[in-house]
Amino acid sequence: METLYSPWRMAYISSAEKTPGCIFCEFPKRNEDEALLILHRGKTCFVILNAFPYNPGHLMVVPYRHVADYEGLQDAELLEMNRLAGDCIAALKATMVPHGFNMGINLGRIAGAGVDGHVHLHVVPRWSGDTNFTTVVGQIRVLPEALPVTWAKLKEALVVRG
Ligand SMILES: [Zn+2]
Repeated sequence: METLYSPWRMAYISSAEKTPGCIFCEFPKRNEDEALLILHRGKTCFVILNAFPYNPGHLMVVPYRHVADYEGLQDAELLEMNRLAGDCIAALKATMVPHGFNMGINLGRIAGAGVDGHVHLHVVPRWSGDTNFTTVVGQIRVLPEALPVTWAKLKEALVVRG
């Protein structure tokens, strides 16, 4: 299911494949926020939509610094990461009306980290029934086309506290 063809996703994957090293270090250096799904750039952290989402609106708050360990994060990064997560939750509530959220950090491959070695906080909107097989299959089918639309909606709705 992850290999379903979509022109948009193929463009993203080819862009990501051209990225040597860590995408969370490289993406913010480029001036391609819309193509790379970057929603917001803060002082110490940025917000990016997950290109391989569990659910629509699945995003990540990522420190700019390449830090592998949660305990290696500085106070300013911890504060901004969590405040941005709250601001994103507000934007997701306003645009997508989820029934709940999962927030979490996977540390290390064994824990499911897709980008190992660069800490990132997942924010995943949840809807009742979204783990139902047919719902999941349906969303996987439509998600790749919808990602740029999701990006535009959230970009519009995201209000970051000063
Ligand atoms: Zn990195």
